[in-house]
Amino acid sequence: MKTLAAALVLFAGSALALPDPRFDGKAEKPAPVAGAKASAAAISEADSRVWVEIEAPGRTERQAAVDAGISVEEIKPGVAAGFATPKALARAKAAGLKVRATVSLRQRFGALDFPEKDALYHNYKELEADMRSLAARAPDLVSMISIGKSTLGRDLWAVRLTRGAKGTQPSKKPGIVFLGTHHAREHLSTEVPLLLAKHLVDNSADPEIARLLETRDVYFIPMVNPDGVEYDIEGGKYHMHRKNMAKNGDGSTGVDLNRNYAWGWGGGGASPDPGDDTYRGPSAFSEPESKAVKAFVEARPNLKVLLSYHTFSELILYPWGGSNDQIPDAKPRAAFQAMAGEMAKMTGYTPEQSSDLYIATGDTCDWAWGAKGIYAFTFELTPKSMWDGGFYPGAGVVARVLQANIRPALYLIDLADDPLRSVNGGGAFAASAAAKSSGEALK
Ligand SMILES: [Zn+2]
Repeated sequence: MKTLAAALVLFAGSALALPDPRFDGKAEKPAPVAGAKASAAAISEADSRVWVEIEAPGRTERQAAVDAGISVEEIKPGVAAGFATPKALARAKAAGLKVRATVSLRQRFGALDFPEKDALYHNYKELEADMRSLAARAPDLVSMISIGKSTLGRDLWAVRLTRGAKGTQPSKKPGIVFLGTHHAREHLSTEVPLLLAKHLVDNSADPEIARLLETRDVYFIPMVNPDGVEYDIEGGKYHMHRKNMAKNGDGSTGVDLNRNYAWGWGGGGASPDPGDDTYRGPSAFSEPESKAVKAFVEARPNLKVLLSYHTFSELILYPWGGSNDQIPDAKPRAAFQAMAGEMAKMTGYTPEQSSDLYIATGDTCDWAWGAKGIYAFTFELTPKSMWDGGFYPGAGVVARVLQANIRPALYLIDLADDPLRSVNGGGAFAASAAAKSSGEALK
């Protein structure tokens, strides 16, 4: 394993130059980041969080770390690592966990500049502008709608891709929604759904994609947490911010939106301490952002599949996240496993039930499946580890990660009419052609 010092150099220097995959990016220079020259450290003195590595031979220790309030972001053989406040670290120690290493965010990441090349990642305004231009470019196919407002009053934008229905008009076509950036610092999870939408529009003449756009109702909500995203890049430096920008009663900032959904809310792996990165909020759906997603889903009973992008670790996760139990009904369980397995073949990511990592309650996917019967997946995108770039892997990975995620997206869109078709390798975009024909026969 790399030493911490060497790894930190890698971490800071991981941005690589590649063609800019951004919308209409032909001659466009990356927009300058406001205040990029600011010398103030991004991680404020008040931010006493540490990156901590805990000895964790198995799930028991991982769960204890999560339950202490650590946001576990990386799991390696024998080790669970993530962010902890001093209080969470003390709780972890009190629970008997062995701390292998800690690094202060303030000292070690305090001067971590937002690299100029990372400006190709979309901030809120750029995202809004690109979604608008996409809708203007293909008005017969694309509409842009706001699904609600963030804590600080920003519109939560969605683009809808389908033939024959516009805006909020209801549709009986099987629907699917791709979500990004519940967690602010996971910027790559904005790029993937945005660029997927663009890919579908750019290739709408392709017969397979044309068929999907004719027969499916496809939504992209690339930035569920715009306030958090804007804060995370404020001043041209990264803040390692995860939550939204709600003001908590104890003076801390933010609720973890992916612990704020109603299914199992308040259970394990979601902190009651407002200062923790995994703070679940004062009640289920207490936050305008999670509320907006709920209302969006409830207004569209045609939605059958949901994919929520996060970073990082290269995983494909399916319910339950809040319980070690498997989905009780064998048929959908087989479909979840088949779909996750197929998409793993396409991406090289690891498929597993979400709670195989550790139990975490109140996430989007448990709610979507448990409350609404929507086949719901979480993708933890590239890279594999914190020291390969973690939340800030650089602009160089965007094109590659997009490429890896096109086929899984097409696969899910196709299966939205009946996800059970996935069992035995069914689905027009399934990885194996031989398995595919036997699956098609099940239709
Ligand atoms: Zn996340």
